[in-house]
Amino acid sequence: MKRDHEEIYSQIHPFHLEDVGNCYYCGCEAEEVDYAPPVKYLQFFIETGESASYCMIPCCIECHQFLSVSREGLIENRKKVVDQKIRKKYKKALSIYERWSDDEIRGLSDDLSNLNQ
Ligand SMILES: [Zn+2]
Repeated sequence: MKRDHEEIYSQIHPFHLEDVGNCYYCGCEAEEVDYAPPVKYLQFFIETGESASYCMIPCCIECHQFLSVSREGLIENRKKVVDQKIRKKYKKALSIYERWSDDEIRGLSDDLSNLNQ
């Protein structure tokens, strides 16, 4: 028998009005809905009684992508997955940024030495 998952999941509402329409995980504009647990594992969670939030969470496209491989049933664990992915991405972005500024500094000193000639 197929269950209507909309009846099982409850919609979560932000505490603050200004958070309405924002991603629960990162605060960006929410354009997707994340399910905790994921709909495809719903039957598993119901049958095993494993702890799960049974919530629909407003979520941005990026976090939705981060979570597409996660089968965590609890919101707080899904948040940890996103935090980890963001940290990893930020670290990469930071190293690119540092490389750029090195080049900029090099470019700047070239300009200065040209001026001196
Ligand atoms: Zn997000």
